[in-house]
Amino acid sequence: MSTSAKSYAAQSATSPLAPFALERRTPTDTDVAIEILFCGVCHSDLHTARNEWQNTVFPVVPGHEIVGRVTAVGSKVTKFRQGDLVGVGCMVDSDRTCPSCQAGLEQYCVQFPILTYNSPDKHLGGMTYGGYSDSVVVDEAFVLRVPDNLDPAAAAPLLCAGITTYSPLRHWKVSKGQKVGIVGLGGLGHMGLKFAHALGAHTVLFTTSPNKAEDAKRLGADEVIISKDAEQMQKHANSFDFILDAVAADHDLNAYLSLLKVDGTMVLVGAPEKPLPVASFSLIMGRRSLAGSLIGGIAETQEMLDFCGEHNIVSDIETIDIQNINEAYERMLKSDVKYRFVIDMASLKK
Ligand code: NAP
Ligand code: ZN
Repeated sequence: MSTSAKSYAAQSATSPLAPFALERRTPTDTDVAIEILFCGVCHSDLHTARNEWQNTVFPVVPGHEIVGRVTAVGSKVTKFRQGDLVGVGCMVDSDRTCPSCQAGLEQYCVQFPILTYNSPDKHLGGMTYGGYSDSVVVDEAFVLRVPDNLDPAAAAPLLCAGITTYSPLRHWKVSKGQKVGIVGLGGLGHMGLKFAHALGAHTVLFTTSPNKAEDAKRLGADEVIISKDAEQMQKHANSFDFILDAVAADHDLNAYLSLLKVDGTMVLVGAPEKPLPVASFSLIMGRRSLAGSLIGGIAETQEMLDFCGEHNIVSDIETIDIQNINEAYERMLKSDVKYRFVIDMASLKK
């Protein structure tokens, strides 16, 4: 049993997103039905819509920064009620029994989590469809509470850009007294700046866009480095405790690794289409570490949302109608986003 929903989908790697009718399941006992109010536009949506990671099953409905209102709950749902403001991020299920899931690290589920879009849908068959839609049905275990004091549109990007930057900053214990770099001032990067600043670190933004320097300072950067300027980069050699790389395209990792102190760590959250070369000497000199991090678990995502509620942290957004999604993708490719597009889903009714 199911009900029909409106959405925007890409039918192939080269076709623009366009209106698409899909089915949402009738809520099970443990499901929450959600009217989607806002959905952020992540660069992963673009990578997937254009099959840049070569794993897209078409048609694909992207969107994993969902904020909405609960419209119905199953009989065994205990955490949510009709009318609650809720969020859904990148995952809608996992095996829930493997060591990762038991540890609250559903994103590292050994069976691989069921992602909000482009994952096999065990309920209806086919693939899961994401948040560029008017509704979604999700098991309550993967639904988050959105603090009421946050603007719902500006809170939407917390569900991916927020948790993806918060989780590594916490895991590697970024704190006061440390010098921390954030690479790339896009959707993820601007949240990384806000969190690193809120955690008390001396925060430095690396950008390829000199015109973003002023904004970066407003968003929490103590210093801004134009990464194309080798002289500026050299001045910071061997000085960083931690660097978070949120770049979506090809770039030189070695230039950043050489800025780490002895035992410093650089973490990749950006997922460019092509592999990035690493010189052994970039790591050997200084016993440096290069690591990666994928979103965050459900409990940690709730912790991040609550942290944002307490510190009044949301994303800096530009709200768009869904009819402008293809233009938004082109602007995202030009690093012309300040600093996250969020789709107002009321536009789907137009
Ligand atoms: P975004 O908003 O497009 O931001 C990416 C930023 O990278 C740009 O704003 C730009 O910042 C910088 N950049 C772009 N091209 C560059 C180039 N050629 N060289 C150097 N810097 C460049 O993207 P996003 O949504 O934040 O996502 C960033 C990446 O993270 C994507 O690959 C996405 O798929 C990935 N991601 C990973 C996870 C995870 O769990 N690990 C979760 C979500 C997203 P400046 O203008 O400041 O240089
Ligand atoms: Zn994302």
